[in-house]
Amino acid sequence: MPQPFPEIKSSHSLVAKHVTKEKWDKLSDIVTKTSGFTLAKAIACAVEFDNQHCGIYAGDEDSYIDFADVFDPLICEYHGLKPDFKHVSDMDSSKLQGNVNPEVPVHSVRIRVGRSIQGYGLSPGITKEQRVGVEELFKNACKKFSGDLSGQYFALTGMDEKVRQQLVDDHFLFMSGDPNLKVAGMERDWPEGRGIFHNEAKTFLVWVNEEDQLRIISMQKGGDVKGVFERLARGIQAVGESVKAESGKDFILSEKFGYVHSCPTNLGTGMRASVHVDLPGWTKEGVDLLKKRCEELKVQPRGTRGESGGQTGHTYDISNKHRLGYSEVELVQTMIDGVNTLYKEDVELQKKHGM
Ligand code: ADP
Ligand code: MG
Repeated sequence: MPQPFPEIKSSHSLVAKHVTKEKWDKLSDIVTKTSGFTLAKAIACAVEFDNQHCGIYAGDEDSYIDFADVFDPLICEYHGLKPDFKHVSDMDSSKLQGNVNPEVPVHSVRIRVGRSIQGYGLSPGITKEQRVGVEELFKNACKKFSGDLSGQYFALTGMDEKVRQQLVDDHFLFMSGDPNLKVAGMERDWPEGRGIFHNEAKTFLVWVNEEDQLRIISMQKGGDVKGVFERLARGIQAVGESVKAESGKDFILSEKFGYVHSCPTNLGTGMRASVHVDLPGWTKEGVDLLKKRCEELKVQPRGTRGESGGQTGHTYDISNKHRLGYSEVELVQTMIDGVNTLYKEDVELQKKHGM
């Protein structure tokens, strides 16, 4: 018996377009094997909120297969891909051309990817036991990181509140309370099973059980994008090898969609390469015009307190907009070029506005 067709409040979302009554009737009774996920759980954000662009999450690897009638066309539309598309990966930092120019007022660089481990659910669907299992596995695996990557894991449970807040304020740690993550089921049993690993310099970090099982992060002050990318490549490899040695398991990799993430917008590379950069001229010109210009340059502006934290002053988080359909090297290059262009234009805009 199909479930009653839900009212989808985000009526302009990709979910509203791709979850037709016909597909719903075919898929709404399916319960996935790994985490017991359903299509209703997957589209909870589009049903609950009226502001979603995409509005769907996967609760496990199976979701992408069991609900492929919805996911496949939605993913192709979101990422602008042809149906016969295949993901390509390239982490060779020596292929990057140039860097963010020395005169650009960049505070810091951060590049992250998401990774998921075979056999465990993804955050929206992951069971309590699986979540704790991922944490246990990673806690042991991270002891094997060596050299500048070696460090310590800190569980959120029992973390001193001052320490936690400082890590958030310094842009190292995620926080709870994002309405999308909540409704998508990603804050169940909070804070159990969540935590952060970092090396001593806090330049190599891993988030455990936030929006993805693992978020692998390389960051540092200043504008050396190439250096940050190079460390990330080593970091991803260290995590992969240690997880494999610990559990015999690999990262979940789909031939078509690349590295599997809970949010279909992150599929492929799962990479977001960003700088925090001052753009006072563009701020004066107007944030809507900046957004439009970013769109043309294939980058995305955010505030400096994370995706849901809003904009503060004239400093922006500028990152690559795409994740799938381009290699990691191409995405980082796009960000470098975009930031250099935006800054050149910012200088002109400052003159125009008599700043
Ligand atoms: P993600 O895409 O990794 O989920 P968010 O937008 O949620 O990123 O931000 C997570 C944290 O990373 C926030 O504290 C944000 O300020 C920080 N961050 C993002 N880019 C940079 C950067 N270039 N330098 C310093 N911190 C950054
Ligand atoms: Mg986030």
